[in-house]
Amino acid sequence: MRAAVYLRISLDREMDGLAIDRQREACQKIARDRGWTVDEDRYYVDQSKSATDKTKKRPAYDRMVTDFKAGYFDAIICWDLDRLTRQPRQLEDWIDAAEDRGLQLVTANGEADLSTDGGRMYARIKAAVARGEVDRKSARQSAAQSQRAKQGRAPKGVRPLGYAINGDVIEHEAEAVKKIYKHFATPDGVSIAALAAGLSGKAGDHIPKDLPVLPKHNRTLMLERNARRETEGLALREVPDDRPWTSSTVLGILRNPRYAGYSSYTPKTLPPADPDDPNGGKRRSWRASILRDENNDPVKGLWEPLVSEETWWAVQERLDAPERLTNRVGTARKHLGSGLFLCGICEMPVKAHSARYRCAGHIVRSREQVDEWVVRIVRDRLSRPNLQDAMPVNDIPRVAEIDEQVTVHQGKIKRAQSDYDAELIEAFDLQRIRKRALGFIGDLESERRTLTAGEGLSSFLEAKDPVAVFDQADLMAQRRLINYFVEVRLYPHPRGQKKFDPATVKVTSRKGRGTVTV
Ligand SMILES: [Zn+2]
Repeated sequence: MRAAVYLRISLDREMDGLAIDRQREACQKIARDRGWTVDEDRYYVDQSKSATDKTKKRPAYDRMVTDFKAGYFDAIICWDLDRLTRQPRQLEDWIDAAEDRGLQLVTANGEADLSTDGGRMYARIKAAVARGEVDRKSARQSAAQSQRAKQGRAPKGVRPLGYAINGDVIEHEAEAVKKIYKHFATPDGVSIAALAAGLSGKAGDHIPKDLPVLPKHNRTLMLERNARRETEGLALREVPDDRPWTSSTVLGILRNPRYAGYSSYTPKTLPPADPDDPNGGKRRSWRASILRDENNDPVKGLWEPLVSEETWWAVQERLDAPERLTNRVGTARKHLGSGLFLCGICEMPVKAHSARYRCAGHIVRSREQVDEWVVRIVRDRLSRPNLQDAMPVNDIPRVAEIDEQVTVHQGKIKRAQSDYDAELIEAFDLQRIRKRALGFIGDLESERRTLTAGEGLSSFLEAKDPVAVFDQADLMAQRRLINYFVEVRLYPHPRGQKKFDPATVKVTSRKGRGTVTV
């Protein structure tokens, strides 16, 4: 009998120390014992890398299926049924093949032998159990987590600075949190950078002297995790260096509603919030993560708040103030329109090069001329009496609803992903499910963007003299405001013409935010 050997190794779990050689030898022994031949090219080996690797495919498996249909072999030897497939549907195909074409399937542990009734039954049960396990696990996890939040219990998982995982206060860390809030809560309080410097043990005129000096939180967390792993006899993970605190980590602390005692819930299905990622990814705002009851009141946690609700909101206010719209944690820009104004021909954002804006090949424009023109239009818009009409309607219930729906769709993707990782669905199904869910998410997010576009701009738009506020605002704030009101497209300037031609800079007003003319 001609046999094929199917081997699969996963590299992601340390418990999966089953070397490929051991699998191979065990399978070869079976072949020898049964007197089967295994040709050189009848070894099919897949490597599943990380469970989070979304591109995970099983090319060798697919090739084996094709080769079997082509009649290259009549038996399959594998280490364990789990390695061959955990999809009931795929298993049924192999069972059919066993019944119709006499395919023999044996596993090294000898438990699944499709040539016997008992072996088939065992295989079916095993696949069904695998399927059920994955279903229950993901449902259980998200249900338990949102349940915990509704009951105001401390969320499981990564503990924030100042709290143990069970929600108990860790005094010396809590001290730091309280000081951070205290120093930041006043409108003229210290800067986030100064707080980060103080926590890192630096001194200076602008740095508060009473801040406790702490190792970076992610370092503390990894040390704790390693201590647990050591007691469990697991391999230790790399501990991050003790670097200075970053502004973005401090910002994360100032934004975390748990410190005011608000129960929050951010589903696991969202990309993890990385406090050190300057771009942050698409993450749910802390404020939106505050869990609300049917009256839209925040649900209170059972843990001890470290700051008063007033202090927390005062901090949010300061963080949202227009003069702070510098978006320190985002990519700082040096020019008014780089990455913001578009090339009118290719629609790509322009880049600033010395004194010019340019795109990949269509336009080169004087920055000064363009900026002057755009600022003139926006200042004019700000000076109109009907500015308040341009204020976004802050439809909080709808935004909450959108967040909810986005979460549902992200959950679908996540579930499909884990089904795929567990080999319960095919790559094709995963793609289809993901594409559909991403379509919904895209629509929802664009609606949310419209609803929340003016967030943080209200004090701008409500100012007595918005033009003056605009003139004094820093570059990032001006960029945000420009982007809120208008879209700017640059076209080539006629050759040899010195005088600026306004027709070559198209400024269009955004829907519902008034019209611009100069
Ligand atoms: Zn272009």
